[in-house]
Amino acid sequence: MTIYSSNQQQIAAKIDPDSQLSQWKDWQWQIRHAIKDIATAERLLGIRLPPEKRARLEETIDTFPLSITPYYLSLIEAEDYENDPVFMQAVPSEAELIIEDCDMPDPLAEDTDSPAACITHRYPDRVLFLVSNVCAMYCRHCTRKRRVGDIDSIPDRDAIREGLNYIAEHPAIRDVLLSGGDPLMLPDEYLDWILTELRAIPHVEVIRIGSRVPVVLPYRITYDLVRVLQKHHPLYLNTHFNHPREITASSREALRKLADAGIPLGNQTVLLAGVNDCPRIMKNLMHKLVRERVRPYYLYQCDLSEGLAHFRTPVGKGIEIIESLIGHTSGFAVPTYVIDAPGGGGKIPVMPNYLLSWSTNKVVLRNYEGVISTYREPDCYEPVYCDRNCEACTLQLKLDDADESKAVGLEKLLSDYDDTYMLIPQDTERIDRRSDE
Ligand SMILES: *Cc1c(COP(=O)(O)O)cnc(C)c1O
Repeated sequence: MTIYSSNQQQIAAKIDPDSQLSQWKDWQWQIRHAIKDIATAERLLGIRLPPEKRARLEETIDTFPLSITPYYLSLIEAEDYENDPVFMQAVPSEAELIIEDCDMPDPLAEDTDSPAACITHRYPDRVLFLVSNVCAMYCRHCTRKRRVGDIDSIPDRDAIREGLNYIAEHPAIRDVLLSGGDPLMLPDEYLDWILTELRAIPHVEVIRIGSRVPVVLPYRITYDLVRVLQKHHPLYLNTHFNHPREITASSREALRKLADAGIPLGNQTVLLAGVNDCPRIMKNLMHKLVRERVRPYYLYQCDLSEGLAHFRTPVGKGIEIIESLIGHTSGFAVPTYVIDAPGGGGKIPVMPNYLLSWSTNKVVLRNYEGVISTYREPDCYEPVYCDRNCEACTLQLKLDDADESKAVGLEKLLSDYDDTYMLIPQDTERIDRRSDE
């Protein structure tokens, strides 16, 4: 049922004149024929770069390597390759070698917040588990660019064991997010082993997989793989579509198999200058995703990783995009726009302002059309004083289900049961003076 486009036929014939459609759709064939140098990309696309430009791109891939699946390459429209959203995500730009002052090798402090091999533990109840260092395609905008193609850090079974042990020893971890690299690049049996080990840990309630395979190598989503994933429910999968052009017959087929297996699908988009920094493109992408049963999850502001400066937009572009979605389209087609805070602060949502003002009994709001409304608040409301004594409370939470974690951050300032009334930043002169005395 998957059509073989004319681009695909031409590329397949150039790779191997005897190749068949069945080979094109074999994901291992796709990996074996991944494009790793500029000259091959030019030949398969039928384009010629100016020689100086080719030389600069070759220099770029010495630092940040190149790998493109034939399938993903076939989505490029070669006539206007310089503005092509797929080309820009797959083929390097010499701008990657420009490092700006604000750039960092590891802006999200993933290595700093790593208490065990393969683990980044940032939030109280969930961890990132980097189980694979391999990707089908090297996205030019990868936030983990520092690691791309770094053969030395492929996690072996011992490293994975260490990560699993860490999760098993920390009962607060109820959600494990497999990432990498791309977890779906692991062999089925190996992935099954990791998932089985995770499922054997009683406190792990939810498993998530982050994978770009449905976008760049949709043929990897085989029925065999889906049968493995299906055994380990509740299992969620977040994928990474950035442009409507990436939604093809092949990627739809992959998403259909996953959704039919009862896997809730989400999508994380990165806001990229020249690729998708347009409210109309974004709305179209979100609409196409929900038609394939994929729920837009996050829209990311591009990180401060080295080599990404040319992809970054002002934050205002993201707010403008969200402004064009909220109210204008289905609520479930609107992702949460987040900035992953440099230094490891985690994801911080950013929104247009809807709350204009308020008094003791009224709030003033505006909607997506600019209509200004008021909401009248109750004249009397008895606050429920919470000392965490649920047994004496009229609200009915069965104690077994109660969240036992301590209040953190602003939640702590708001709570009744914790006396903390200020959070004090380190390193202010005023605070330093206190300790000097
Ligand atoms: C993104 C991320 C998570 C998951 O965050 P959610 O907001 O729950 O999707 C967990 N750990 C780390 C380190 C992350 O970067």
